[in-house]
Amino acid sequence: MLKLKNVHTYYDNIHALKGIDLVINRGEIVTLIGSNGAGKTTTLGTITGLLKPKTGKIFYNDKEMTGIIPGEIVKRGISLSPEGREVFPQLSIHDNLRLGAYTRKNKKEIEESYDMVYELFPRLKERKNQVSKTLSGGEQQMLAIARALMAKPEVLLLDEPSLGLSPNLVQMIFKLIKDINNLGTTILLVEQNAKMALRVADRAYVLETGKIIMEGDAKKLLNDENVKKAYLGNL
Ligand code: ATP
Repeated sequence: MLKLKNVHTYYDNIHALKGIDLVINRGEIVTLIGSNGAGKTTTLGTITGLLKPKTGKIFYNDKEMTGIIPGEIVKRGISLSPEGREVFPQLSIHDNLRLGAYTRKNKKEIEESYDMVYELFPRLKERKNQVSKTLSGGEQQMLAIARALMAKPEVLLLDEPSLGLSPNLVQMIFKLIKDINNLGTTILLVEQNAKMALRVADRAYVLETGKIIMEGDAKKLLNDENVKKAYLGNL
């Protein structure tokens, strides 16, 4: 469904992605794990068109989409829930969600999406008119995911959804990821919490200094001695 072939991305002269090959099949949860600065966020930025690869190609549903502008990529069915709390702080929850649907026209379908995200995130429903900057970290994270879902994506890209959350909320976010996947959305999950990510994912890629150094079945990687030592704190 989504395929990256030998993708190289630079920030000026910093060579951040050094030939990434990655495949995501319809219906999967795929996780991309790796330490700080490995290039996880850069990979998502390259898929969403915020960064342009210098060489390499990106295909979506067998069509090349390298170099296409971000709005068009959202329209084609790929949407990003960004790292941190990049919600619009001055706007209410509901208005943030409205902006998530900016590429869509069908009012009835947009209403259905509000119903769907408010059902997934009852806490956002209770507070729909609350200004987003007053939300807790966990609530803002939920809003970032909910806003990405308002684009009705086929593929949802999640950048560090568990970052900075308390253990209970981390559990809750991972359960939601599974729920969203069960509703039919394909997921690419970028995480530093490798243990939880490998538990929820079908397949995984391990990224180190801009290169994929390992890939395979998530449960197998969870039990791999090298992965355990490097990313799972020996657990
Ligand atoms: P983290 O988990 O810490 O967010 P990451 O795996 O997402 O790490 P990236 O943010 O993709 O890593 O960074 C990959 C490399 O590119 C790093 O060496 C980083 O310093 C560099 N980099 C990222 N953004 C920029 C930028 N805007 N300008 C210059 N270099 C950048």
